[in-house]
Amino acid sequence: MLQTPHQSLQVAAVPTQRAAAIPSQRRPARDQDAPWHTEAVCRRDEAGLFFAPSKEPTAARLSREDAAKRVCGGCPVMAECREHALLQPEPYGVWGGLTAAERRVVLARRRRRDLERQQSTRATDHIAAAG
Ligand code: SF4
Repeated sequence: MLQTPHQSLQVAAVPTQRAAAIPSQRRPARDQDAPWHTEAVCRRDEAGLFFAPSKEPTAARLSREDAAKRVCGGCPVMAECREHALLQPEPYGVWGGLTAAERRVVLARRRRRDLERQQSTRATDHIAAAG
């Protein structure tokens, strides 16, 4: 089972601030066999940015999510993380720069797009069969 970046918070050896401070151009290329989350800059989420505490007021949630998204913006594996969260799907927290609500919107758009493609293919097949 894939260990998620958020699950590995306690075992990371490099503090987030240090990992985030290394410009991506200077980071060595990731070993292609290494899981993407080994480069997650949120591996030590000491500020608790990525998941909501219970009974979090809306203003605090929005502020926390913005801060988490800023961390994601500097993360070298944002695309992989986002796709992971969409495919699982991960129901909670900020992943790949998206909140859970934003991921639901992306997934709904993908489902609608897939449905439209299927309908278009069926219509084309119907026309071809009739012709
Ligand atoms: S994109 Fe954000 S949530 Fe995903 S690994 Fe990077 S810092 Fe963590």
